[in-house]
Amino acid sequence: MTLKKRTMKFAALLLASIVLLTTSNLEAQNRKKKKKKDETEVAATPPEKKSKEKTIEDLTKSSKKMEGLFTIYQDTITGSLQMLISKDMFGKEFIYFNQISNGVVDAGRNRGSYRDTKVFTVEKYFNRIEFISQNTSFYFDPENAISKAKEANISNGNMASIQIEAFDNEKGLYLIKADELFLKETLTQIKPASAPGSSPTSFRLGNLDKDKTKIIAIKNYQENTNLEVEYVYSSPSVLNNGSEAVTDGRNVSIKVFQSLIAMPENNYEPRFDDPRVGYFINEVNDQTAISAAPYRDVINRWHLKKKNPELEISEPVEPITWWMENTTPIEWRETIKEAVLKWNAAFEKAGFKNAIVVKQQPDDADWDAGDIRYNVLRWTASPRPPFGGYGPCLNNPRTGEIIGADIMLEYNIISGSDANSRLFESYTDSNEFETLDDDLSREGCVLQQGLVENLNFAKSVAIISSDSEEALKRIQKEAVMAVVMHEIGHTLGLNHNMKASQLFTPEQLADADFIEGKCLTASIMDYAVINVTKDRSKQGQYDDVNIGPYDIWAIQLGYKPFETEEERQALLNESTKPEHIFGNDADDMRSSRTGIDPRVMIFDQSSDPITYFIDRIELADNMLKNAKDKFTKDGETYQELRRVYYSLIGEKANAGNVFSRYIGGVYVDRAMVGQEGATKPYTPVSLKDQKRAMEAISKYIFAPNAFDVPNTLYNYLARQRRGFDYTQEDPKIHSQVLGYQKRVLNHLLYPNTLQRITDSELYGNEYTLSRFMTDLNDAIFRADIYGSVNSFRQNLQLEYTNMLIDMLTGQQGDRYTNNAKSMALFNLKAIRNMSAPSGNLASKAHKEHLRTRIDNALKEIK
Ligand SMILES: [Zn+2]
Repeated sequence: MTLKKRTMKFAALLLASIVLLTTSNLEAQNRKKKKKKDETEVAATPPEKKSKEKTIEDLTKSSKKMEGLFTIYQDTITGSLQMLISKDMFGKEFIYFNQISNGVVDAGRNRGSYRDTKVFTVEKYFNRIEFISQNTSFYFDPENAISKAKEANISNGNMASIQIEAFDNEKGLYLIKADELFLKETLTQIKPASAPGSSPTSFRLGNLDKDKTKIIAIKNYQENTNLEVEYVYSSPSVLNNGSEAVTDGRNVSIKVFQSLIAMPENNYEPRFDDPRVGYFINEVNDQTAISAAPYRDVINRWHLKKKNPELEISEPVEPITWWMENTTPIEWRETIKEAVLKWNAAFEKAGFKNAIVVKQQPDDADWDAGDIRYNVLRWTASPRPPFGGYGPCLNNPRTGEIIGADIMLEYNIISGSDANSRLFESYTDSNEFETLDDDLSREGCVLQQGLVENLNFAKSVAIISSDSEEALKRIQKEAVMAVVMHEIGHTLGLNHNMKASQLFTPEQLADADFIEGKCLTASIMDYAVINVTKDRSKQGQYDDVNIGPYDIWAIQLGYKPFETEEERQALLNESTKPEHIFGNDADDMRSSRTGIDPRVMIFDQSSDPITYFIDRIELADNMLKNAKDKFTKDGETYQELRRVYYSLIGEKANAGNVFSRYIGGVYVDRAMVGQEGATKPYTPVSLKDQKRAMEAISKYIFAPNAFDVPNTLYNYLARQRRGFDYTQEDPKIHSQVLGYQKRVLNHLLYPNTLQRITDSELYGNEYTLSRFMTDLNDAIFRADIYGSVNSFRQNLQLEYTNMLIDMLTGQQGDRYTNNAKSMALFNLKAIRNMSAPSGNLASKAHKEHLRTRIDNALKEIK
């Protein structure tokens, strides 16, 4: 096309659109006028005289009819929707569910994420149809008279009240307009609310644009009605256009699958939760029970029934069928299938043969994962992977019965792309009081970047150790198997078991024959680190190639058709066996705010994580010596070397987290009263182990030489340049190291940690607050009293001193106990005494700085 022609065409288009614009303006005006006229007409006509009312047939004659649970009509000219409601639906319960079909991570709405599931009823109110969400959190014993007041002080949600357009009294049918229901955020909130005070420069969706928002697909079945809707959020101007994944920050599309589902009518029997085993639950409070724990929480599980109930092991009437999406990398399909089917061994113990079946979605399939009748293992390679794997379930809020599930897997668990790696961040801006990421949803799993970091660590070690090509393949295969088994576990109803890594000793994990073919922890539902042995000649399995003993036990508790309650209790009483150890996210210690048991931790390993991670740090230090030789290739940049450096040194950040949890730690036992093998519910960590942890922190995280690496390495930690991207030109080594150290300090000086140390002195903790705080001061200062202080230590000392000052005079001071504040003051005075000017000029300046800060702070304390 010549330029001239193109210009002409453009002009014609422009003209056409002007004409269109004018016409549509006119039309709008006319509509407005007409509407006014109609309104007056309606007002003038007495209601009983509505003889010319249109019928359902009249109003749907230009529409395509789609029959299903809720019959839907779509106008063939405008695309607008109408819906048929039948009289027998009134008062009946249905399930509403939605998941993101496609979106952007920037808005927290990414492909495959399951969002709300709720029960709703359809009601008729005069000439309107209402959609009302129902509360499922409470139970009232119908035998108890108080159950007559069961609606007291509980609000159901009236989501929509829509006028009836036409009805057929004979058939009991009512027609309503349905655009309101599906094209707005009527049934669910899509756009995240921005928190008050959140930065105005953060990425935000515009307003829902009703003209651009549209129906993409409608699939209607007898048991469910499904619509895919594209919500478009527009804004005339934006401060933040979002990442590269957002093409136009002013117009952002979030596509959503919405499903209206018939309440399952079958002989499913809900099963109640027990705190000794980790199923996802729907919490239900028994309002009529007289008990300290009036819980009727139902676990999430599939409706598995034996085809031959008389057989000890029978095939199920309907197996759990998994479809590998046609996006699945072909070379990984066999491995993935193998991983999924590993769970069948657990089901055999529960009495089911071939409980899980795996099939391949054909490339030309006419269905997609939005169809809730299919459970799909899906793959994506997102620009900013929100997770490594994610396995959500859709369950009936009333009974816990799992109706459907999907698994989302990110290709970065294979490619090793770690653009988001936490190790590249300095952490210096991290919030003092909300240490570490806390973004695990109750409903699913976010295997997070940690897995990719782990994989990169294992691969770096293998390459530097000149391991074979086979070893690298093995690492990758085992990691993929572990992720798939883990996510499948979620979809069977299991939540995390972050305590499971306590099963084997460091020696057992370094015994290749012993671990061969096993899960390396008690449960595939843990996040253990990839097992890399310090002595490279002893390297065996890297990751889990099977499910664990806890998993087999847990599946029996969820699925075995028990003859009697005694039988179930007897199995539950096996919770005290070492291989059935359990603690979930709620207890885990990544957040200093919640967990107290150091065994319930992510990215740890073995029954002695302190020893295990000392080995790992020493391994990483050894590897750093040869990193440059192994990771520089003629004709290439130093990008790979830089990545390996962060991968190896980053082990200290992780090890520091693991060590720090032992200080002030309290072991928790979930066993019931009188159960064989039970210990006390709370037992403080022994003095010996707390001291060992403190020594490890002192030596490997805080010591003057803790971050010594071959100096010659620093000159090469260069990023590959790309266009005008100037972020992190230099490696910023000091802030990176301080970031690792601060993560440890943030936990040790967290208000709850210090409070727990004092509290647990009452019930067995021998590592007293005064002793611990003295050791901490010594670890950070003692080595430098009489000499020079290196630049890492200057950084650490000043940061720590500031934290102590903050405990006394900072905004968060009220959160600390008086005991903790006294020790902070005591330590500040000790630091002042240890900081008499000595060493080189920089050290003298530093010590003077410390003393000035302390003196000024002491003046503030009255
Ligand atoms: Zn998980």
